Amino acid sequence: MTATSTRERPAHASIPAYTCGHCPARWSGLSFAHCGACHRTFSSVTGFDAHRLRGVCVDPAGRGLVIDVHGIWRKPAQEGGHWTTQR
Ligand SMILES: [Zn+2]
Ligand SMILES: [Zn+2]
Repeated sequence: MTATSTRERPAHASIPAYTCGHCPARWSGLSFAHCGACHRTFSSVTGFDAHRLRGVCVDPAGRGLVIDVHGIWRKPAQEGGHWTTQR
């Protein structure tokens, strides 16, 4: 039996929304990263890494991140070329 309709995932599906399950945070985008400890959402893993120092969450603002209107922490718009991530 060869299925002719294997559309389990509609291609026209709207932007996938992700939720934490432990906080009201919602975001969309596979590149986003949500911290399960402090429940902040970051636009990228880079930002997520920036707020984690030695396994502890720190204030993203102190790491040079800014929060946008959606409550997403991201890199500042002006990327002067000196984005410090201590890896
Ligand atoms: Zn965190
Ligand atoms: Zn959360």
